[in-house]
Amino acid sequence: MIDLHLHLDGSIHPEDMFRLAEMSGAALPAEREEEIRKMLMVEPGCRNLGEYLEKFALPLQVLQTKESMEYAVYRLLKRLRTQGLCYAEIRFAPQLHTQKGLTQEAAVHAAVSGLGQGIREFGISAGLILCCMRGAGNGAENTETVAAAERFLGKGVCAVDLAGNEAAYPTEMFSDVFGRAQERHVPVVIHAGEAAGAESVRKALESGALRIGHGIRAMEDSGLMELLRDRKIYLEMCYSSNLQTRAVDSPEDYPLPEFMEKGLYVTVNTDNMTVSDTNLKKEYLLLKKQFALTDDALKQLALNAAEGAFVTEEERAELKSRIQREFAAWLGQG
Ligand SMILES: [Zn+2]
Repeated sequence: MIDLHLHLDGSIHPEDMFRLAEMSGAALPAEREEEIRKMLMVEPGCRNLGEYLEKFALPLQVLQTKESMEYAVYRLLKRLRTQGLCYAEIRFAPQLHTQKGLTQEAAVHAAVSGLGQGIREFGISAGLILCCMRGAGNGAENTETVAAAERFLGKGVCAVDLAGNEAAYPTEMFSDVFGRAQERHVPVVIHAGEAAGAESVRKALESGALRIGHGIRAMEDSGLMELLRDRKIYLEMCYSSNLQTRAVDSPEDYPLPEFMEKGLYVTVNTDNMTVSDTNLKKEYLLLKKQFALTDDALKQLALNAAEGAFVTEEERAELKSRIQREFAAWLGQG
């Protein structure tokens, strides 16, 4: 009932694309929702993370104004509440929303406003994670993202992240940016060990990451797995997405059972509900089936998410008791 790893641009419902396009003054390449849905979803033949990331061009076109940013976050919260989630951390990269003149700060401000509206209206609790982007020559943009995170920290924003093509732009290229985030006491999470190996996860830890997005390639390094356990680093695993980007060759190779056995702090997340054509309950049920996990084991994964969430201790206790009470019923429904 908690999703800690959920991208805004990858989770736009096809139905909302039309309104968002209007708000952004963008033309969509098709008129029917079904056609748009196909364009947003990853193809079965996807070969790697690079190809997967190509699916984000279209949703990004409609997220270029204050109105569209605000509306997209608001609508996503509504959908999450309908799915029975009680808490979510929604992430996006402010620097990708400046194509029509928005500043990063304005984009964040609009998202914060949509978040507040959704929280009040739907009774769900949520925070925003601002992604810096892997790339060359965008140091200034990433620095601006960290500054925006500092400005809105505790007022809707809960952390910064590093997203993008991990294979092309190694984690160590961005250590300065995250050094700055740490100096400013902005919590750091980093996508690592998805399209690059265990070394990338080690670099992410050196950059101060408190949680790791995916982290599956940590399975190649037993010393690293011990380190992740001893430091209580939460892994935001996204099963469907990881299969689609070929981060593992087959479902049997997925290291979730091994991580659990070794005492690592694993959480279950969707990554991109639309691009990956999934939702949180579907992810839990897929894992349950693939790895014959008991309902208690699944509940423990949900409790891990409450432990790893960027919330106050009071909110954490509330989330945990809610999971204890409601998880079995939630998983059993529908
Ligand atoms: Zn991600």
